[in-house]
Amino acid sequence: MTTQKVPELYGSMVFDDRVMRARLSGKVYNSLRKTIDENEKLDENVANEVASVMRDWAIEKGATHFTHWFQPLTGVTAEKHDSFITPAPDGSVIMEFSGKELIKGEPDASSFPSGGLRATFEARGYTAWDPTSYAFIKDHTLCIPTAFCSYSGEALDKKTPLLRSMEALNKQAKRILKLFGKDVKFVRTSVGPEQEYFLIDKDMFEKRPDLVYTGRTLFGAMPPKGQELDDHYFGVIKPRVTAFMEDLNEELWKLGILAKTEHNEVAPAQHEMAPIFSTTNVATDNNQLMMEIMQKVARRHDMVCLLHEKPFAGVNGSGKHNNWSMATDKGTNLLSPGDTPYENAQFLLFLCAVIQAVDDYQDLLRLSVATAGNDHRLGANEAPPAIISVFLGDELTGILDAIKSDKPYQGTEQVIMKLGVHALPRFSRDTTDRNRTSPFAFTGNKFEFRSLGSSNSIACCNIMLNAAVAESLKQYADRLEGASDFEADLHELIKEVITKHQRILFNGNGYGEEWIKEATEVRGLSNLKTTADAMPHLLDEKNKEMLIAHKVFTETELQSRCEIMLENYCKTVNIEGLTMVDMVRKNYLPAIEKYLYSLAKTTSLMKSVSGNVKCNYEISTMERLSELTDYILERVKDLEKALEDLKAVDDVVKASELVRDDLLPKMEHLRKHVDEAEMLTSESSWPFPSYGKLLFSVY
Ligand code: ADP
Ligand code: MG
Repeated sequence: MTTQKVPELYGSMVFDDRVMRARLSGKVYNSLRKTIDENEKLDENVANEVASVMRDWAIEKGATHFTHWFQPLTGVTAEKHDSFITPAPDGSVIMEFSGKELIKGEPDASSFPSGGLRATFEARGYTAWDPTSYAFIKDHTLCIPTAFCSYSGEALDKKTPLLRSMEALNKQAKRILKLFGKDVKFVRTSVGPEQEYFLIDKDMFEKRPDLVYTGRTLFGAMPPKGQELDDHYFGVIKPRVTAFMEDLNEELWKLGILAKTEHNEVAPAQHEMAPIFSTTNVATDNNQLMMEIMQKVARRHDMVCLLHEKPFAGVNGSGKHNNWSMATDKGTNLLSPGDTPYENAQFLLFLCAVIQAVDDYQDLLRLSVATAGNDHRLGANEAPPAIISVFLGDELTGILDAIKSDKPYQGTEQVIMKLGVHALPRFSRDTTDRNRTSPFAFTGNKFEFRSLGSSNSIACCNIMLNAAVAESLKQYADRLEGASDFEADLHELIKEVITKHQRILFNGNGYGEEWIKEATEVRGLSNLKTTADAMPHLLDEKNKEMLIAHKVFTETELQSRCEIMLENYCKTVNIEGLTMVDMVRKNYLPAIEKYLYSLAKTTSLMKSVSGNVKCNYEISTMERLSELTDYILERVKDLEKALEDLKAVDDVVKASELVRDDLLPKMEHLRKHVDEAEMLTSESSWPFPSYGKLLFSVY
């Protein structure tokens, strides 16, 4: 592909604003735009015209089917394809697609997780068109982004609460901006997610049942070389990977996804890809698509793209950075320090809203990224800790300190910071972007939430972030709307917030042991290490109250989500446990036994030939391996028992605790012995490819 072609290619498979403007009548276009921008209700006639124009466009692009594309609580996207064909009286077919089909679909919802929201006899759910995210064509199918609800109106997906949270924030942010004399159409949150992943050879992948069934290796001794030389990060990209990236970019550009940055990551075989940011809802849809397409394109290149958070023990796992900000319809970034004192006061108030939100709802942010996979990263010295804190950088911290204590800021001007009177000193972006160990860092004009796992849907954390910030803003608006002296009250408010939420601000090393001690013992921050610890907090009174008050979730939706997430955690680890048992009993033990046989046979043969041979190597290896097989047998029996015990537990909270306290430690224990045996056994006798082969065989 020549570079000339990129602008032409970009968005060619998307029913975007360009297509709408060109093809819809002026009246319908304006009306649809109003729905997209201002949430106005959609007229049925408008839907009919949009549908027919969309159909013609899709057919021209080779589409034969359409689907409502949605994000059930499984975390992956779902689609059910219908063709456009309708029989005509003369026996032929015509291609039809009505406004009704565009707006609403009725997939059978009974096989999607609902956490008790919907009894199976009430299996119907419905999907509703989300016009704020453009329709697109994938594999000859017109995909219409939709929300997915039960018939009683409860959300069965991740998009619905995300849209609700964006609306909550929009409402409160507009109130605040009004106080600063600004009447804006809307405030939207924007997100740019940086996505990490591994690429490994397809043949190697297929030889590993653990990767096939669970996405991660459950066994495997460390290779002689891992990431210690730091030679992979930003290193030269290998030709096969380059070919993959080129192909991937092309696919993503066609779908209007702004694929921008790509580089090698820290671990061998690990890479990163970052798009340019967009509105949260669109960014979420795009990230889901991106993950799907990465896997598809990798296969084309005889590789497999691993999105698991911890595919390999001993080298870094994969995360996702959620760069987040808020902007008005005029494109003003509300987290960008302004040019005038007044603008700076506004910036500081929005900054405070985020600081307070993160402090008040640490647990919600933590649980929004909690999965069995991500538990392997958080707190493992490679990703931010499970403790949530905010990094602001020295300069901004200095400014806040000065405001808090009515002291002169030691920056450029020696003046007491009185908002609305003095301009904030300009601080350079550079100084804000150095700390890579903070889970929630201010990076000049946005916050970067870094605790996400690579396979997480970004919907979850943005729902919580939007809602929590909406709550801070609401409190501020309630207080300032009746202010007699706005500037004085504003100053007082900002001072109060900074003082009250001081404990969440931390610029130091988040990976250090001392921080964990200080955070939990001195500052009283929460440290929810696992999904089992974190998830039940979704139902804490303060969290429920806030999420329900902003109409982001209903009480039943919260209960069902908590249940589904914990269930998912238990099921995931259960499958891993079963896979381990399977591999040990069917492959590892028989392989070691065979190797022992050959050692024993060699020894006796050698001894029969000569009385002088000692066979030290053969005998010592045999002795240790034989000991290990006995351990392995005991440990696999322990694991089987734990899996049996888990079956007997009905309560999902109790089950998740059993997984955390019993199942996972037993899996770890079993692995240790098998990995030791791997080091003592000849490679040709070992049943699965080694870590070395998995990590270093793509060129
Ligand atoms: P890095 O974090 O590697 O230094 P950048 O700061 O350039 O990289 O950007 C990281 C991501 O943040 C990109 O996806 C970028 O589009 C996104 N980003 C930049 N500005 C904003 C914003 N205002 N809102 C949300 N995301 C943003
Ligand atoms: Mg980053």
